[in-house]
Amino acid sequence: MKFHAAYQSWGRYFHYQHDIESPAWRQDTQFLEQTEPLLPYGLGRSYGDSCLNNNGTLISTEHLNRFIAFDGERGVLRCEAGVTLADILSVIVPRGWFIPVTPGTKYVTIAGAIANDVHGKNHNHVGTFGCHITQLELLRSSGERLICSCDENPELFAATIGGLGLTGFISWAEIQLIPIENAFIQEESIQFANLDECINLFEQSAADNQYTVAWIDCLASGTQLGRGIFTRGNHCTSHSAEKNHTLRKLRSVPFTFPPGCLNKLSVSVFNNLYFRKLGGRSKSSRIDYDHFFYPLDALLNWNRLYGPKGFIQYQCVLIDNAVDAMKELLTLIAKSGQPSPLNVLKEFGDIQSPGLLSFPRKGLTLALDFPNRGEATLKLCNELDVIVKNAGGALYPAKDSRMTAEMFALGYPQLDTFIPHIDPKFSSSFWRRVQPPAV
Ligand SMILES: Cc1cc2nc3c(=O)[nH]c(=O)nc-3n(C[C@H](O)[C@H](O)[C@H](O)COP(=O)(O)OP(=O)(O)OC[C@H]3O[C@@H](n4cnc5c(N)ncnc54)[C@H](O)[C@@H]3O)c2cc1C
Repeated sequence: MKFHAAYQSWGRYFHYQHDIESPAWRQDTQFLEQTEPLLPYGLGRSYGDSCLNNNGTLISTEHLNRFIAFDGERGVLRCEAGVTLADILSVIVPRGWFIPVTPGTKYVTIAGAIANDVHGKNHNHVGTFGCHITQLELLRSSGERLICSCDENPELFAATIGGLGLTGFISWAEIQLIPIENAFIQEESIQFANLDECINLFEQSAADNQYTVAWIDCLASGTQLGRGIFTRGNHCTSHSAEKNHTLRKLRSVPFTFPPGCLNKLSVSVFNNLYFRKLGGRSKSSRIDYDHFFYPLDALLNWNRLYGPKGFIQYQCVLIDNAVDAMKELLTLIAKSGQPSPLNVLKEFGDIQSPGLLSFPRKGLTLALDFPNRGEATLKLCNELDVIVKNAGGALYPAKDSRMTAEMFALGYPQLDTFIPHIDPKFSSSFWRRVQPPAV
């Protein structure tokens, strides 16, 4: 066992030791014999320890990157577990199809997106990623291969969607795509002065806009509490844009920044500049899907900006009196002075995912990136937990590095139904931290 820098999670908060197995074919089963516990690993774009398995084996899907079948009439794609959303988009967009749900990076694998049941900027219209998976193959440590869908092995399917890699190894998956006419999005960005204005924008935009999201300045307070930039968009029709787009130039953060570069002062300057980028107006433009969905992907390794201690992402969903609870949360963050530059607020709708441990549910969700300042950061997160608990909410395992077993059990009431589906040879560092104590 040793620390492998290439198999970390995105927050770079943990430095765990692993053995690594990388099966070359989806028919391989040899890795099931490796040192237990086992855990599948995609691209490590989860922020915390749900994709880590300290002192155990990670089963990397890097070589399981083949397309298996594509029905261009119906828009149904089947591919191996390690195929990334970037790979999929490069093939389907020129053919007039798009992924129904996409997270804020395209550098995730299809199996990783299933195991966290990821959401996008359109949850209120189409639900989660798992809602669009028509079937998948699950390899259990017994060597058994099971086709899982809403009709076949439905209980195991429900446990595997959002199942955090604990129910076995997804070897391939099939997804229903959505039709598009070209690669462009008609986007509108609007500056708002506070949280109430932001909520109004979500309400006004819900019916006519497929995608909605807001960036929040978490250091603003008083009458400016929750100020930020709201963005909404729809896929362009063929009359309004040419078909293809040119690939953008990528840049990379070449090294890990020294500690403390992202501090209250630098983040406050960034937030002020970003908030004012529209000059108080709104801006409408036609942009390609890469710029709309994946602005952060243009800067590879941006997580190195947070320094050698990494960062903690905190993503919660608030349900009861969500707007008031969100104000309470933002007030606490602004008061704490803990800087978080990338703060994303979205509205979840009520479309039910098949996944037993799916995170999204009707309410408001906020994702925050706090540079790791040790105890001070953990203390703030513990205080935020109280607000989330009082609002009947939950924390997102894909982003988490520190949630307690109590918080997990409160947020995931179907946990008891899920547990019997866990594969006996599979586990993760996250699971060992949050699993209910054995009775
Ligand atoms: C910039 C950025 C933006 C993001 N935006 C969003 C967002 O908007 N919405 C959102 O929901 N998430 C978002 N995320 C989180 C990310 O989408 C999820 O963490 C995603 O699941 C990561 O996929 P991965 O392929 O990197 O998987 P990993 O992080 O490597 O693994 C994720 C989980 O999948 C399991 N897994 C991987 N492969 C398999 C397999 N073959 N069989 C069974 N289980 C498997 C792992 O065990 C683990 O539990 C974002 C992440 C980043 C870095």
